[in-house]
Amino acid sequence: MFHADLNRTLVVAADLLNTSEGARSGSPSPDELTTVESLRSFVGEREAQQWPVGRLDRAQLERVLALRDTLHAIWSATPLDAEKDLTTLNGLLEGVGFTLTTGEGDGGDSEVHAAPVPVSRELADVMTAQIAYALSQLVILDESARLRTCRGEDCEAKIVDLTRNRSKLFCDFGNCANRAHVRAYRARKAAEREAARRSDKSAPADEERLAKPSAKDKAAQLDEPTSESAVAAKEFRSRMRDELMDSRAKQDKKKDKKKKKKKADKKKDGKKKDGKKSEKKSSK
Ligand SMILES: [Zn+2]
Repeated sequence: MFHADLNRTLVVAADLLNTSEGARSGSPSPDELTTVESLRSFVGEREAQQWPVGRLDRAQLERVLALRDTLHAIWSATPLDAEKDLTTLNGLLEGVGFTLTTGEGDGGDSEVHAAPVPVSRELADVMTAQIAYALSQLVILDESARLRTCRGEDCEAKIVDLTRNRSKLFCDFGNCANRAHVRAYRARKAAEREAARRSDKSAPADEERLAKPSAKDKAAQLDEPTSESAVAAKEFRSRMRDELMDSRAKQDKKKDKKKKKKKADKKKDGKKKDGKKSEKKSSK
């Protein structure tokens, strides 16, 4: 979406946030940055950032964790347009300069862009400068709403949407997108069944018709992207409840049948025994 360095740094910022403890695609995930060693491997896996790896110690880890906390606050405040948000970002940018350099542009061609100059060559300072600079570019371009939290159920993963049409809503940790699509599909099916059920019934009273949205309205609501997951989840829950009630009712019926059969069998047995007794009597 932007130039290559900016895209990569934004993804790295989301990666840093996702080292935090929290739900990922339906499963709990522990804090992955608890030791200097874990910080070293996080840095080692991102060579393209050219982060200094020489002196990594507890103090650097503490500062990187503080940066992570600040980024959480920034991500949850998007779009960043309030004075308070800018103050937070300005805090990270303090002392950071920039220089002009040539690099790969959005289309793959070489182009001139600005690169941040950190306060020092210490890891925490370099990370802070790169990430704060990338975020400031998003804010200037009025694109900070691209910093998001995954819309998947039971998922707190942070994402950065680099698609042209701003369509990325889910993380890549598991199957968040797939789970949401299944939910939406089931909700649509439930709405269709509801519509069929209603059309079978005689026309409802005027008051009821006013109070309750029609199945068509409901279906239209389900297609609204903003409320889709919430509505889908609700529909899914009520459908599960209905299915549970259905299966319970069926089980109860079966039990009743079994009981009745047992009673009937007992009666039969009794009659047979009686029959045998009377046979014996009559043979005597
Ligand atoms: Zn997710």
